Amino acid sequence: MSYLVKNYNRKKISFKKGKGSYLYGNDGRKYLDFVQGIAVNSLGHAHPKLVRVINNQSKKLWHVSNAFIIPEGETLAKKLVKKTFADYVMFQNSGAEATEASIKVARRYFYSIGKPQKNRIICIKNSFHGRTLAAIYASGSKKMTEGFGPKIQGFDHFKFGDHERLKKLITKKTAAIMIETIMGEGGIKEIPDWCLKELRRLCNQKGILLILDEVQCGIGRTGDFFAFDKSRVKPDIVPIAKGIGGGFPIGAVLMNKKVASAMTVGSHGSTFGGNPLAMKIGNQVMDIVSNNYFLNNIKKNSKFFLKELNELKEKFPKIIKNIRGRGFLIGLQLHEDQTKFIDDLMKNKLLTIKAAENVVRILPPLNVKKSEIISALKIIEKVCQNYI
Ligand SMILES: *Cc1c(COP(=O)(O)O)cnc(C)c1O
Repeated sequence: MSYLVKNYNRKKISFKKGKGSYLYGNDGRKYLDFVQGIAVNSLGHAHPKLVRVINNQSKKLWHVSNAFIIPEGETLAKKLVKKTFADYVMFQNSGAEATEASIKVARRYFYSIGKPQKNRIICIKNSFHGRTLAAIYASGSKKMTEGFGPKIQGFDHFKFGDHERLKKLITKKTAAIMIETIMGEGGIKEIPDWCLKELRRLCNQKGILLILDEVQCGIGRTGDFFAFDKSRVKPDIVPIAKGIGGGFPIGAVLMNKKVASAMTVGSHGSTFGGNPLAMKIGNQVMDIVSNNYFLNNIKKNSKFFLKELNELKEKFPKIIKNIRGRGFLIGLQLHEDQTKFIDDLMKNKLLTIKAAENVVRILPPLNVKKSEIISALKIIEKVCQNYI
């Protein structure tokens, strides 16, 4: 008997400990973990530097309140600003909170310049921005919003790639376009660079804001610090979460000076957001993942992984339809439903996770070893072999 609410479809395994890329199951088996808490554990399980930082800080100070100055948060904000487009940072605890706060910042900006009627946000249909009420209506997914009415107003949707519809949706009431740079839950679908550039141009032309949700694809996941870095586009607002805490819950909104000016005293807040313990951990993750040598290594190793996966696609064209993604945000798209394939990988001690469009999502830790990638490839090949 489980007293937990049944809102998850859990695999029938549990774990007693983790180390790096591996999880040790209570079934006595050792699993190669290429889920990593859904792109959360950017440095794998129990990274020695994170263990040390948690141990040290836990003896000093956990939580004080944003009623006081928190030097650890000042330091992390400075590092994020130095590394990115942003001028200011606002800390939260999760992805949904960060996207929700991003929506608030966009609306508040137009309010602050005397245009409160500009409050609608344009999003991609069936995208994913989290599970709060505003975020589910932003995602425009029938499944996620079912039974949670009345509908939260203020979101307009276009289908992925339907640029004509997007242009038509922009009106005098539009405040922002909010999209994931690479759709995670949606099946590892990338917004191409030319498209990001065009979006930026469109936003400038219409005087609206560009919000790029990097909760899943950011913080080194693609081998660039942000997935949009390569395009050289500068967004106005970027929510982050998953990877920045390395397994500890941290969210944040990064923004430019223009919109930050609207967030005056009392306009937003969070009890837990940015506490000293979380910030110490965030600083340590940031020091490791923002390093160019570390990022280049992600590019190098993921290039090998993607090349080999593409070769498996050539070898098993009836099973694998496509290889999607960039860096260590990888989607193995199958021709048919992926549930059994994921279970078979699990039986062979490789953990992966579903995404939309028959995609098997592969999310190794960013510091995964080449030998571990090779082990995963062997398991994937073996499972493919069993299908023919
Ligand atoms: C996971 C995710 C969120 C929500 O994060 P939570 O921490 O689960 O609230 C929002 N946006 C994207 C792109 C995500 O992948």
